[in-house]
Amino acid sequence: MSSQQWFPITDSFLREVIAPLEETLEGRIHKNVSLSQISRWKIGGNAWCVVDAASSSDISNVFRLMRSRSEPVFIMGDSSNVLFDTRGFNGLILRISRSMSSVRTSGSTMVAQAGVWMPYLARRSAQEGLSGLEHAVGIPGTLGGLVLMNGGSQRLGIGNNVLRVQCVTFNGEDMTLSRDDCNFSYRKSSLQFQRLAVVEVQLELTPADPSIIRRDMINILRSRRTRFPKNLPNGGSTFLSDPTMYSSVGAPGAIIERIGFKGLREGGAQISTQHANFIVNNGGATSFDVLRLVYLIRQRVQDVTGFRLDCEVQHVRFDGVVAPAHVAAHEHFELLR
Ligand SMILES: Cc1cc2nc3c(=O)[nH]c(=O)nc-3n(C[C@H](O)[C@H](O)[C@H](O)COP(=O)(O)OP(=O)(O)OC[C@H]3O[C@@H](n4cnc5c(N)ncnc54)[C@H](O)[C@@H]3O)c2cc1C
Repeated sequence: MSSQQWFPITDSFLREVIAPLEETLEGRIHKNVSLSQISRWKIGGNAWCVVDAASSSDISNVFRLMRSRSEPVFIMGDSSNVLFDTRGFNGLILRISRSMSSVRTSGSTMVAQAGVWMPYLARRSAQEGLSGLEHAVGIPGTLGGLVLMNGGSQRLGIGNNVLRVQCVTFNGEDMTLSRDDCNFSYRKSSLQFQRLAVVEVQLELTPADPSIIRRDMINILRSRRTRFPKNLPNGGSTFLSDPTMYSSVGAPGAIIERIGFKGLREGGAQISTQHANFIVNNGGATSFDVLRLVYLIRQRVQDVTGFRLDCEVQHVRFDGVVAPAHVAAHEHFELLR
């Protein structure tokens, strides 16, 4: 099924993008990177290059070099909400993670760089006696990715705690957004529709007893451990839990289980036997295997319940087109019919 479409890096890209970045970057640049090695799902072909940004000036440099070019740029944190294409990525991946992860606290405000690892930030907030991030203690991703997705758990979203977001626009300029500017709603923010990188986030938290914060975090982690698959690579919850659907037919995992798809396999991918809203990679899964499962689930759920399941997971195509995985699945498999 997967038609490999690997294009080697062009000379002009090497000369006009890689060479100047090698001169100026504070962070690092890696060429011909296997996305299956660096992605959380362990799926994806080769990317022309991955730039590990170490500062906002690294990010502006990348954007300034790339804005007039035809090759795509994709921003990743830890890729825990991303399905890379098995055909690879013919462009530049800007990674904002460990090299941009400093944190400072002032009173009840924490200011953290976008690349900070969310479980670390949550634990740090507990140490500082600041409550508000308990729900995010078990979410494997960066703060930047979580803010963009307004992610969270326990029916909460990180947007509730955001005071300000510091960004770099695709023109290479700095921009500050308030919480209102971000228009947070269930697993959505206006940041998803703008060409920008989140660089730093100011969070407003509430002073509380550290031992109570820690106790709540331990309870949340315990409950996640029993419910979610942890030994096989996966992309978290595949489908969004639409509130109307939830109240009339239940959560996506329960519906998928009810239609008898729990454990269904396609190539190396499988609907988790532990939680049916997770798709795991049993080894050697391709992006097409995952998209096929998404397609089959969506069709069957619609036939049985009348509701359409939409994906939280974003698919990143080799040519830079980014779309929720159900959109990519529909485009790919409808064309083959
Ligand atoms: C096992 C597992 C459990 C999960 N549980 C939850 C959960 O309980 N709740 C929940 O909400 N999510 C959950 N997720 C999904 C995911 O962890 C979150 O959405 C996460 O915070 C994404 O962060 P990331 O750094 O991995 O972002 P990525 O997956 O790398 O990126 C997600 C999106 O954000 C963009 N992005 C990333 N960083 C930046 C940046 N600095 N600037 C601009 N754009 C950026 C990317 O382009 C992409 O569109 C889970 C995932 C896994 C694998």
